[in-house]
Amino acid sequence: MQQNPELPDRLSPLFGMSPPAPVPGCSVCAEFAEQRRAARAAYDGSRETDVNVLMRRHRKQAHSG
Ligand SMILES: [Zn+2]
Repeated sequence: MQQNPELPDRLSPLFGMSPPAPVPGCSVCAEFAEQRRAARAAYDGSRETDVNVLMRRHRKQAHSG
């Protein structure tokens, strides 16, 4: 078996990683954080995941990650 030394650095998918943190001072992030908090409070795991996905997408677009 030959090992590939040039494996790309970005193999790991976004899903399954630790949830994104809201960026201080950003009202959109704050909104997502509130939605996630509410989803957790309601034990709504699928909704929490949805919010995390949206939050990551927003962070990527608005905060470069
Ligand atoms: Zn933001």
